[in-house]
Amino acid sequence: MTNMINHPDERLSAYMDDELNETERLEVEHHLASCERCRELLEDLLGLRQAVVGAYEHIQAPNELESRILQALAQKPTPEPAAKGWLSIPLVSLALLSVLLIMAGTVIVKMLSGVVKVLIALLYFVSHFIATAPVLSGLTILLAVGVLMLSGYSLRQLLLSNE
Ligand SMILES: [Zn+2]
Repeated sequence: MTNMINHPDERLSAYMDDELNETERLEVEHHLASCERCRELLEDLLGLRQAVVGAYEHIQAPNELESRILQALAQKPTPEPAAKGWLSIPLVSLALLSVLLIMAGTVIVKMLSGVVKVLIALLYFVSHFIATAPVLSGLTILLAVGVLMLSGYSLRQLLLSNE
């Protein structure tokens, strides 16, 4: 084995970076072949460089990712949720309107049936009254017509106000 002569410590990093000329490289390689200490040193240096590069890449990746996310956010100033929001307003109002129409519909039906019942009762009463008291028939007919017109008018007002 060679004596403990000059280890090319200062050349190892240059060798690692492939910055040596042919002769220097061969000298280092020749030395490494026979010197375990320098092989270990080279391995340490390679490991250290790997760690540095790895750490750098590790730091670099989230930065790139973050900038990409920020870019994506900048490019999309949330137009989709806004569009959905605008779309939901007519849908909600449509649903509310249909509910209101159903409620109003049942109310109108109830009112109509009530009005019809009142009209039937009125007609029955009028016809009965006309039959029993023919003297007042002219007046009661006028009165009945007046009540019918009034109820018809109020019914139309009710329907119009509900529309
Ligand atoms: Zn050596």
